[in-house]
Amino acid sequence: MKISHALFALLLLPMSIQTNAQTARQFAEMWDKQHVSRILPSQVRHRDLQKYLEELKSISLKVEEVGRSNASREIYQVEWGRGAVKIFMWSQMHGDEPTATSALVDMLMFLQKNRDKTWVRELENSLTIRAVPMLNPDGAELYQRRNLQFIDINRDARALETPEGSLLKKLRDQWQPDLGFNLHNQNSLTTVGKTNKQATISLLAVSGDPSGKSNAGHLRSRRLCAVMVSALENFIKGNIGRYDDSYNPRAFGDMISAWGTPVILVETGALHNRDEMFLVKLNFVAYLSALKSLVDKSEQKVDPNLYDALPFNDTGNLYNTIFRRAKILNYAESIEPFTADVAINAERRRASETAPTFVQDIGDLGIYTGLDEYDTSDFYLIPKNGLLKIGTSGEFLFYKKTRKIDWKTKDLEKTFPPDAIFRQGRWEKGARALPKTK
Ligand SMILES: [Zn+2]
Repeated sequence: MKISHALFALLLLPMSIQTNAQTARQFAEMWDKQHVSRILPSQVRHRDLQKYLEELKSISLKVEEVGRSNASREIYQVEWGRGAVKIFMWSQMHGDEPTATSALVDMLMFLQKNRDKTWVRELENSLTIRAVPMLNPDGAELYQRRNLQFIDINRDARALETPEGSLLKKLRDQWQPDLGFNLHNQNSLTTVGKTNKQATISLLAVSGDPSGKSNAGHLRSRRLCAVMVSALENFIKGNIGRYDDSYNPRAFGDMISAWGTPVILVETGALHNRDEMFLVKLNFVAYLSALKSLVDKSEQKVDPNLYDALPFNDTGNLYNTIFRRAKILNYAESIEPFTADVAINAERRRASETAPTFVQDIGDLGIYTGLDEYDTSDFYLIPKNGLLKIGTSGEFLFYKKTRKIDWKTKDLEKTFPPDAIFRQGRWEKGARALPKTK
């Protein structure tokens, strides 16, 4: 009897994993075919969100203005479903963290348009979802983390001095949701543990207890995170991290959990050579996977260890670009030319803007990885203004070592045209001059 039970479980296990994988891929296909977010999330302004919300309203979704920002921009809440389980989702509390705003619009549009599907109808009858996309519209307009008072809204859960933070607390307190999704973006160079793999998505089942003690809500959040991990592994296996879970009494994730609504934090990073829309799709797949598993109760059979075992986020292992074994020529100082690796990073900007780059490190950087790397061993690297320093602009001229150059020449770039020029994070000249090794 025991043996046949075990055998049965063995037979059942791969099948249920297969079903989950299939569902996640189906969600991705549905997003491909049906998503309505047309602009890259970093390009979405408050007025673009308003256009999206008009579309949601036009198909009978409940959209209402629930508050105003410092600059009197409208903050909206969208409601879908008529079930007993209350799900609260908010995005872009940090103005320059836009991915989830587009993903929420896509998800709500999809749910409303697909109510003829049995599983969507089950969601509609079991859940009520309230979503606040773009909680910080002033920050979003300026593409800055903080609001117009330059307060980090996510550090205002206790003081409640920001209109946006107070609103978030009011919406939670009045409605008392059963589960919250706190939706953010993290630095694109965040890695999965001490690896050189970007953390494309990081998750945190917030405990909401200073001592990190678990309760039923927290356990369910861990299982829902495990559901999202298994869905996301179909697309970004190895690129999923666990967000640092140290308790912060000023942060909304911790406080909303402490006030009685267990919170799941979703932090979207990046994946090299994939654009922002891919990240929107991943978010869409993750939310729907979690919500569906909550309704069909499949989450109750999921092993939370799939989430617990994720490596924690780490930083400092990865750079945007590394130039390997360059001969550095600091012509502005009487320093002998020397050989070194040079690492530069780009700042966060909207997709349409040029991201400034800055020198991060110089020397033997053999233990680090660049998203892009170049073999510079046949070249002189000439820094802007003739001195390579940490924190200076990542603008370089490259000259083949075999060339005879008078480095003291006044207008070096004009008199001796370089073989390659790297400026503002891209090759302005000689894109193929240096061998690309990564
Ligand atoms: Zn954030």
